[in-house]
Amino acid sequence: MSDIVSNIISLKRQIPLSVRLIAVSKTKSVSDILEAYSAGQRAFGENRVQELLSKKDKLPPDVEWHLIGHLQSNKIKYIVPFISMIHSVDSFRLLTAIDEEAGKIKRQIDCLIQFHIAREETKYGFSFKEADEMMGTDEFRDLKNVRICGVMGMATFTDDTSVVRSEFRDLATHFKSLKDKYFNRLPYFKELSMGMSGDFLTAIEEGSTMVRIGSIIFGERS
Ligand SMILES: *Cc1c(COP(=O)(O)O)cnc(C)c1O
Repeated sequence: MSDIVSNIISLKRQIPLSVRLIAVSKTKSVSDILEAYSAGQRAFGENRVQELLSKKDKLPPDVEWHLIGHLQSNKIKYIVPFISMIHSVDSFRLLTAIDEEAGKIKRQIDCLIQFHIAREETKYGFSFKEADEMMGTDEFRDLKNVRICGVMGMATFTDDTSVVRSEFRDLATHFKSLKDKYFNRLPYFKELSMGMSGDFLTAIEEGSTMVRIGSIIFGERS
């Protein structure tokens, strides 16, 4: 059995069935992805549009692609025809641009709102106040071609589990309050995308429904 297949099998044993595994394949080859596919993995996450497009056509059509990295507006049109979910919606401008491109091809795109929960400066995303303000507007409510399915966040890169846990807990709390306030009767607002190789067990304990895992499956990236 290949390393990738056995890594997936042992990872699956640690993840409840109710939590979706997104295999993060950025920088990894098509043949690595095919090995994961042979283990039954179908959902893959990439952070760059160009890289995603170059791999997509070399892989089976039932691969489900998730965009997890910052998306530039001029690249939206290349992914709206097929993308399963965009986890990294980090501005209202981007959301309206996705809505517009999706409208052109009459497709509704599943999106997550990305929150900045880490201490690091460089990560993209909304603050809780910004998201609350956006969701309260008519312009947000009027978007027809995007379906807001939940939220995404990345914790601080640290060995201090208590920091990571409190960031995930905050995100989960805000997720629930946004659900109550704006998505009350909308069953599809249910995804809490949090947890990576270093912190997925903590994320699951704090209520994650989707973990995005690369290194544990494919090995370290160079
Ligand atoms: C790279 C990346 C991951 C996966 O990271 P690993 O530590 O390799 O599991 C998850 N989420 C996002 C947004 C990423 O960019």
